[in-house]
Amino acid sequence: MKVLGIESSCDETGVALYDTGRGLLGHAVHTQVAMHEAYGGVVPELASRDHIRRLIPLLERVLADAGCTRRDIDAIAYTAGPGLAGALLVGASFAEALAMALDVPALPVHHLEGHLLSPLLADDAPPFPFIALLVSGGHTQLMRVTRVGAYELLGESLDDAAGEAFDKTAKLLGLGYPGGPALAKLAERGTAGRFKLPRPMLNSGDLSFSFSGLKTAVLTAARAKELTESEKADLAAEFQEAVTEVLAAKSVTACRQHRLSSLVVAGGVGANRRLRQRLDEAMAKIGGRVFYPALELCTDNGAMIAFCGAQRLLQGEVPVAARGAFAVRPRWPLDQLS
Ligand code: ATP
Ligand code: MG
Ligand code: FE
Repeated sequence: MKVLGIESSCDETGVALYDTGRGLLGHAVHTQVAMHEAYGGVVPELASRDHIRRLIPLLERVLADAGCTRRDIDAIAYTAGPGLAGALLVGASFAEALAMALDVPALPVHHLEGHLLSPLLADDAPPFPFIALLVSGGHTQLMRVTRVGAYELLGESLDDAAGEAFDKTAKLLGLGYPGGPALAKLAERGTAGRFKLPRPMLNSGDLSFSFSGLKTAVLTAARAKELTESEKADLAAEFQEAVTEVLAAKSVTACRQHRLSSLVVAGGVGANRRLRQRLDEAMAKIGGRVFYPALELCTDNGAMIAFCGAQRLLQGEVPVAARGAFAVRPRWPLDQLS
């Protein structure tokens, strides 16, 4: 069965074709970063319009790479939420219209479930059950995953998501948009510990996170004096140490509490090298292991949506909505997934 995946929840347009027998046949992503850069953040209306422009060319490219035609598509999965309403609607109406034209089922998919299952696309996939650390631009959550569709939320950020904290802190340091990767790069040239930042909620005794105070602490340090380039790098390094230390500690606690030795990491911040290093070390200490998606599948993409839709179809799920009667859900907690 060949499932087409469509992702358009924010500022990446992703299209992919996944075959339940042969794996990923093709995938392509167009990122709108350059377009939104001048505004310092995503402009929803521009995002929606750009998704419209990109979808058909991306579909053509993926089909060509896969050596397939539209007639080979057996089902279409698309991100129905959470995300920007207008952006989601573009992908949803494109997917539903194409599904209608091809007379194949269209399946709405939860964006975070896509991220969460993306490590299963790797050759070396983790076995169920596992603990998942979802660290993206909008979410920081620890979950217990027993099978596809069974997600128990163990803890999450009470304020900013880890990626959001990276982005906002990067902006404070004048690193532009999107700041996460730029901040991580700057951190590599700095030395942690020269500035002292808090480790928020490290000893809170639960699996909750809080990152907004860290951003304020960086602001305070940056306002105290004019920072040299090397001081900026030191501050970035300390910030990265603080975030990754808390993420690693709580992930290990979650694994211990649930007696699980597999940790899965998904979402854009999962691309962070220091985070990977810390998680690998911390999990090795308790005889566990960390599973990551391929680097290119950490941030938003169509492959994870196609894969997620395929898993649900394999489980016997059939789309319930009548043709043409679809909706998107800009806000959609993962634990409300049926
Ligand atoms: P959500 O999935 O919660 O709706 P999103 O789709 O915007 O949010 P992703 O695409 O999964 O999030 O990830 C983007 C985030 O990852 C951004 O905040 C970005 O700064 C961050 N990020 C990407 N690479 C790195 C890195 N190397 N270090 C730290 N953060 C990173
Ligand atoms: Mg994005
Ligand atoms: Fe995402």
